[in-house]
Amino acid sequence: MKIAVIGAGVVGITTAYELAMQGHEVKVFERNSSVAQECSFANAGVISPGYVTPWAKPGMTWYVLSQLGRKNAPVRISGLGLAEMAWLSKWWRACDSNTFNRNRKNLLDLSQYSQQRMHELSKRLHLNHDRSQGYMVLLRGERERKLLQASIELMRAEGLDLKVLSPTEACEIEPALNTETKLLEAIYFPNDEVGNCREFAYLLKKEAEDLGVEFELNANVQNLTPEQPHTIRISSQDKGQKFDAVVACTGLASTELLKPLGIKIPLMAVHGYSISAAVREPLDAPRSGVMDERYKISITRLGQRVRVSGSAEIGGDAKTLRKQSIKTLFDVLNDWFPGAARTQENVQIWKGSRPMLPDGPPLVGPSGVKGVWLNLGHGSSGWALSCGSAKAVADMVSHHRAEIDMQGFDYQRVK
Ligand SMILES: Cc1cc2nc3c(=O)[nH]c(=O)nc-3n(C[C@H](O)[C@H](O)[C@H](O)COP(=O)(O)OP(=O)(O)OC[C@H]3O[C@@H](n4cnc5c(N)ncnc54)[C@H](O)[C@@H]3O)c2cc1C
Repeated sequence: MKIAVIGAGVVGITTAYELAMQGHEVKVFERNSSVAQECSFANAGVISPGYVTPWAKPGMTWYVLSQLGRKNAPVRISGLGLAEMAWLSKWWRACDSNTFNRNRKNLLDLSQYSQQRMHELSKRLHLNHDRSQGYMVLLRGERERKLLQASIELMRAEGLDLKVLSPTEACEIEPALNTETKLLEAIYFPNDEVGNCREFAYLLKKEAEDLGVEFELNANVQNLTPEQPHTIRISSQDKGQKFDAVVACTGLASTELLKPLGIKIPLMAVHGYSISAAVREPLDAPRSGVMDERYKISITRLGQRVRVSGSAEIGGDAKTLRKQSIKTLFDVLNDWFPGAARTQENVQIWKGSRPMLPDGPPLVGPSGVKGVWLNLGHGSSGWALSCGSAKAVADMVSHHRAEIDMQGFDYQRVK
């Protein structure tokens, strides 16, 4: 088939690659002048299946409310409009334990499948992106331990490999951890990893091109029309390019793109930040990834750089940088790895917007309009879920059964 993939974030690139692998003629349209310029640009890079979990979960409403007004709160809500209120009400309704348990299981299955697929691709194609093994969650005090208890029991029951470490044991794995910052204990996930999403996307783009995938950049695709849903137009005068099928991998922009087809996608932007700086002294830097559970801030090692990432802003816009949120990233880095990075020069400061659906899992599969497929709404875990979602949607487009159960990712659930 001749297939158009719209969007060249990590989800669009992995999708294009998988479709090409299945013998399709694929063209990718991206509105930016290069790929992975939006949410896939400078995310934390964490691949932790146990942490790929819906934000809609029992107790979350109280957690969010308890954070309101706090200077360093991991979650901030401000400037809500009607659309945000409607989304929050859907999110709140999805916080019941049945919905959570179902979505949690589906996300865990997809993220494990995705990690396995990423390993297969990396090995077979020699994709040499910056990555490191293991992920450690740092608990500063009793409050964090108590809040995390239920999740740890759940992860154990799910068979995830994790170890509870004393501060001394934590320092054996991450020798540069600052012992002057109080650490009660750490949870270590030896099978988790961190990797550079943007670099991976670039490397896989090259592989896709070798398979014949064409990339049209600076191509802002006009909203799809019910009369010709498989015709891609870059401007309103454009006669259009015809395809047999279209896969929307358009992250946050999906709602607008698909609205004329009657496909309603309840996405919201949940903004976050990262700072990336060159390693100053490798012996003072993390070996892999850690997360400060109190501030929900991760510190990851990406080759010669350290990246610190966190914050979830609901409302507000994608451009305005909140100074306090950025300062908290520097402070947390300084708490755990002082001197690790050159924070006075050439620091890359990034604000990105997670494409979030109210109940958590992305939409991967048919849209209800013949030949229009969805692979979008990956929220806070699009890097971790990309390779699995891409393989699954490519299987479905090719009329094969996906290798894992994808029912929990269908469009019907958000209609
Ligand atoms: C601060 C932060 C930290 C994060 N940390 C992690 C993490 O540790 N692990 C993890 O797994 N995930 C993480 N994420 C989430 C992850 O980055 C996203 O889920 C993922 O990048 C989404 O990928 P995507 O391809 O769907 O979207 P995007 O990367 O946004 O790609 C969508 C693409 O579609 C293009 N597009 C849209 N509309 C059109 C159109 N009409 N025509 C042409 N092109 C179009 C856009 O230009 C864009 O390039 C984090 C996110 C943030 C903000």
